[in-house]
Amino acid sequence: MEPDPLSPNDNAMSAPDEIGEPEVLVRRSDEDIALFDSQRIVEALVREANIDADLAAQISLEVREFIQKLGFRTLSSSLIRGLVDAKLLELGMEDAHHAHSRLGVPFYDVDRMMHSAFRETATQPYGPEGSSLLLAEAIKREYAILSVFSEQIANAHLVGDIHIHAIGAVDRPFSLISAIDYVKQFGIALPQGFASSRPARRAEVLVAHIVKLSAALQGYLAGPVVWDSLNFALAPFLADAGDRAIKQLAQTLVFEFSAPAVARGGQIIFSDLHLDWDAPSYMKSRPAVGSGGQVTDKTYGDFTAEAHRFLQSLFEVYIEGDGQGRAFLTPRLILHINRHFNEIPGYRAVLELASRLAVERGGLTIAFDREDEGSFPRRFGINDEKALARAESHALRSSQFQVVSLNLPRVGYLAGGNQVKVFEELTRLMETAAQAHLEKRVFLEKLLALGERGPLAALTTRASGSPFLKLNWATHAISLVGLNELCRAVLKSDLHDSEATMEFALKVLTHLKREAERLSNKHKVRFLLSGQSTEVTAYRLARLDLRFFGEMAESVVCGDPHSDAAYYTDGVRLSATSDISVLDRVRTEGLFHDFGFVNATTEVWMGESTPQADDLGRLISQAFYQSTCAGLIFCPEFTICSRCGQSARGLHAACPSCGSEKVEGLAYAGDRYGHTSSWDAGRIAELRDRRRVTGADM
Ligand SMILES: [Zn+2]
Repeated sequence: MEPDPLSPNDNAMSAPDEIGEPEVLVRRSDEDIALFDSQRIVEALVREANIDADLAAQISLEVREFIQKLGFRTLSSSLIRGLVDAKLLELGMEDAHHAHSRLGVPFYDVDRMMHSAFRETATQPYGPEGSSLLLAEAIKREYAILSVFSEQIANAHLVGDIHIHAIGAVDRPFSLISAIDYVKQFGIALPQGFASSRPARRAEVLVAHIVKLSAALQGYLAGPVVWDSLNFALAPFLADAGDRAIKQLAQTLVFEFSAPAVARGGQIIFSDLHLDWDAPSYMKSRPAVGSGGQVTDKTYGDFTAEAHRFLQSLFEVYIEGDGQGRAFLTPRLILHINRHFNEIPGYRAVLELASRLAVERGGLTIAFDREDEGSFPRRFGINDEKALARAESHALRSSQFQVVSLNLPRVGYLAGGNQVKVFEELTRLMETAAQAHLEKRVFLEKLLALGERGPLAALTTRASGSPFLKLNWATHAISLVGLNELCRAVLKSDLHDSEATMEFALKVLTHLKREAERLSNKHKVRFLLSGQSTEVTAYRLARLDLRFFGEMAESVVCGDPHSDAAYYTDGVRLSATSDISVLDRVRTEGLFHDFGFVNATTEVWMGESTPQADDLGRLISQAFYQSTCAGLIFCPEFTICSRCGQSARGLHAACPSCGSEKVEGLAYAGDRYGHTSSWDAGRIAELRDRRRVTGADM
């Protein structure tokens, strides 16, 4: 056997070194080990930081001397890099230090992640797969802060003026909403060796295509894959199907969407399905695409009966729950109601099913399309009548590139009660958010420009002749945190407390809406006000404000300002504790939704109570006719027992069936159901504060 020249035995190490390098072994990050070679430092500095070769040689020499002086026997390449970085900073070369720095995660964090079952969000996989994703995300987050965003924007995020959502997924657009006609006409056609298949001829195959494409696209998005009007899209395939076959199809759809959870560490497909009772106005008179991608001689409106049957079956499947009778948390269902809703026979039956689903399982969103013209922009975020009329149904698709939240209460602290200053600060904040969007967009456009050989290949595929993700139909969401606490900071009162507070809040929203329009015109992209929230944003921003604004923030935050359990109210919602009827909440929040918010909903917290389905049906109807509320989401809470497997309504410390204390709470926050054990202290405090509706409130 030949001696290994790098093995750390004495003979090998004592060989004289011609160029006078210290005899130090270097452990490299690519699982290799090598003798220290100062020339490598020179090469890295020239290649990565674009430093003049003479200066690089000088730096390398100083690092070598330092290593020699301390008499190390082994070193890691990351430590050597750190020594070089320190030299760069000493010389005042910040840019070079930036370019040369190493992205990574402290040992302590890696160790902790690998030893715990902790998940940051409900969509994150369990186990080793989950920690792998967390680690990758940590490095990309650092990359985003260092390189994608300018120093000004990175700082605005870090100090909490704004919150850039999913910053660790900076190399992906946030979400994608698409008509299913694309899948019907082109089947699955993805680059980079994904299996492709021709347009489906049967409904089961179409469903399989939708699920597969959702799973594939998920890897390219930070947020959900959203499919529009699922039941009308499937309807042309169901003309001859019996009730049993349709029910079976609905079951297949839901089970297939949940199945990958088993395959890869519990990672569920994050997807939203829009459903319609009446065909959406922009679809109704379009020719329906049927089996094999053929355009039929009927319109989507002609398939209303089939669409109804599938919708009802899907609701039944959700009400039944999974094999253990538990609720399906994915995909999320959004039922649209328009003004023709109660002109179509059978509406009572479907409203009752929807109400039962809402009461028993929760998670159902009811979206209100009060005006026909508004239904497309509300869903796709695109207000482009001409392009909509020109586009074929398979081309109806848009992408939300990014979501950025504004920290509104901070505006109040900075303005110190001066209302003129409030509006100046709001303008500044909107400009910061717009700039954050533009910087990510520049980065994403570069990735997309690499086309089918680049990392975002699946989004650039041109099966239909134009790119799958169309830049001119991309949108940029700006969501708000703490409108209620902004009022507290400026006027010392909550939203629901007085007329004056409401007037102020409406002025704030008028200003933000105008700013969104002004910035859209200025930058030639679409900025939209959005009702989106996450589990963590309101908590993170409240904590940062407590740190930077001390007493001022202490009198404003919700929860306990002296412990970890402080939070802000999500978006344009009324405070969790506000003691008003559910219909008043719907009406008041509806006034805010009317400023053109996309994805805005009023959460109806039901806790343990089980209101009658009739009462819920009445609430839905009142919300539609007597408010401008954009949508309702019904949120009962559950306790799941890990001993007996039973799920009970409400949040309990012990299982009501078997008494075991090994229970997990399931509740809604940040636009999704999640396990309360993974929630932060602020969100738990909000959960405790919620004023839940009871049957008597309705
Ligand atoms: Zn139990």
